[in-house]
Amino acid sequence: MNKGKVYIVGAGPGDLELLSLKAKRCVEEADCIVYDRLINKRILKFAKPDAELIYLGKLNTEGGVIQDEINKTLVREALKGKVVTRLKGGDPFVFGRGGEEIQEILKDEIPFEVVPGITSSISVPAYSGIPVTHRGISRSFHVFTGHTMEDGGWHNFDAIAKLKGTLVFLMGVKNLDLITGDLIKNGKDPETPVGIIEKGSTSKQRVIRGTLSTIVEIAKKEDVKPPAIIIIGGVVNLRDEFNWFEKKELFGKKILVTRDEKQAEAMSSVIEKKGGEAVELPLIQIEDQMKDYDYSEIKKYSCLLFNSQNAVRSFFRYLPDMRLLGDIKIGVVGVKTKEELLKVKLVPDFMPEEYIGELLAKEACDCTKEEDKILFVTSDISPNNPEEWSAKYKRNFEKLAAYKTVKIKKDKSEVEETLKGVDIVTFLSSSTVEAFVESLDGNLDGIKGVKFASIGPVTSETMKKLGLSVDIEAKIFTAEGVLKSIEEAM
Ligand code: SAH
Repeated sequence: MNKGKVYIVGAGPGDLELLSLKAKRCVEEADCIVYDRLINKRILKFAKPDAELIYLGKLNTEGGVIQDEINKTLVREALKGKVVTRLKGGDPFVFGRGGEEIQEILKDEIPFEVVPGITSSISVPAYSGIPVTHRGISRSFHVFTGHTMEDGGWHNFDAIAKLKGTLVFLMGVKNLDLITGDLIKNGKDPETPVGIIEKGSTSKQRVIRGTLSTIVEIAKKEDVKPPAIIIIGGVVNLRDEFNWFEKKELFGKKILVTRDEKQAEAMSSVIEKKGGEAVELPLIQIEDQMKDYDYSEIKKYSCLLFNSQNAVRSFFRYLPDMRLLGDIKIGVVGVKTKEELLKVKLVPDFMPEEYIGELLAKEACDCTKEEDKILFVTSDISPNNPEEWSAKYKRNFEKLAAYKTVKIKKDKSEVEETLKGVDIVTFLSSSTVEAFVESLDGNLDGIKGVKFASIGPVTSETMKKLGLSVDIEAKIFTAEGVLKSIEEAM
C-alpha cells in the first residue's frame, strides 16, 4: 500500500522570498497542501494546478479542536497515496506543533520529512532593525511562548529576570501585562527597552516601543493585535540606526494587480521587492489567436509593426521558421515591446520616441515604398485603425489581431473581499477598468478610500468615463512606470 508522504514545512514569517528552495519544491510537488493563517498566500501559486488546497487556520494557536482536525487531515490525505505538504508559518518546530503532527502520522507509519523555516522569533526583529544579539549588548537570546499553560502554570520569572540576554516572546500580546509585570517584580530594570512588532516582514509591519514600565499603556493605546512579537533588551535601541525594511519604496502599501494572470507575477514581484504587498485579481485574459495563421502570408509584406509585448509573443509563438520573415523590416512601439522582440533575437529597425501607434505608420514610410503592404500586429480591440493610415501614408496597411483580450467578470462579493485593506488599484489597460466596474455591477459606493493608478492617458480616460478617480497616472507607460509614479505620489 502506498502511504503517501507528508512534508512538514516552515514557510517563513511572511515575506514570500524568505521561503527556502526546498520548501518551494515541496509545494510544487504536493498533491495536497494544508496551510494556516500566517503564511503568505502567494506561496500557493507554486502549487500544481490540480493540487488540493486545504485551509485550516487557527486564530487561536491553542485551539485544540482544529489541531485535531489538522492531524486527521494529514493522515487521511497521505493514506490516499498523496504527497501532502503541511505549510506552517515560521519554523514548524518553534511553537508550531510540528512535533504533534509527526507523532500522529507516525501511528500509521507514514513517511515524512521536516523542512525548517525561518522562524519569526529572529526574522521579525531583523525586519524591524533589531538584531537579537549584538556585541557588547547581548550575548544570548531566549525565546518564550507568551501563553500560560492550560493549568495556569507560568514560566519561572525569577530565573528569566536574571537573564542578561535578549528576551523574545511569541504569542504574548494578550499577556503583555503579566510578562512585563512579572519581570519587574522579579528584579528586571523597569527601564529595559521593549519593542513589539506586529505583522513583521509584511507591508503592514508596525513597531511599537517603550520600556518594561511603559509598554503596556502604549500597546493599549496603539491597539496592538496579533501576530506580534515582543522583544525585550538593549538591542531594541539599535532600531534607531538599523531600521531598513520600513524605508523601502512601497512599504505599507497593499496594491491590487489586475492584469492577465500570466503577467501579474512579474508586477507582483516588483511590488514585493519594493516592500509593498501585492494582491492579484486578474480581470483580463490574453488568448493567442495565431495557432491557425498561415505564416507563408508574411512574404507579401515589406514591414511588420508591433504595438505590444503580447503582440510579439503571440506572433512568434507559432511562427514555424524564422526565415519566413526574410529581410522584412520591423517596427515596434514601447520599450517592453522592444525587449520582447530582442528575446527572439530580432532587433527592431525603428521605434518611435512616443508610445503612439500611428507613429509606427509614419516611421514605416522611411523603409518602405508607396503601395507596399505593411502588417500591423496587435490585439482584437486595438484602438488603432491601420486602414485609415493607408490613405494618409500611401501604403497598404493591414491589421492582424494576434491575440484577444477577454475581460473576466468576477463576482461582486469576490472583488469587495479582495479590496479589503487594498490601498491602490492598478489598471494597465482600459479593458481591466471596464471589467472592474462591470464586476462591481457599476456600483462604486463600497470602494471609498481606495486610490486608482493608471498606466497612461487612454486608460485614464476610460477610468474617468466609468466614474473612477485617476489618483495617479504613470509617466512611463509600463507596469514599472505605474509603480514608479505610485512611489513618487507617496
Ligand atoms: N512557528 C512560528 C511561530 C508560531 S506561533 C515561527 O517559527 O515563527 C505564532 C506566533 O508567532 C504569533 O503569535 C507571533 O507571536 C509570532 N509571529 C509569527 N509570524 C509573525 C509575524 N509575521 N509578525 C509578528 N509575529 C509573528
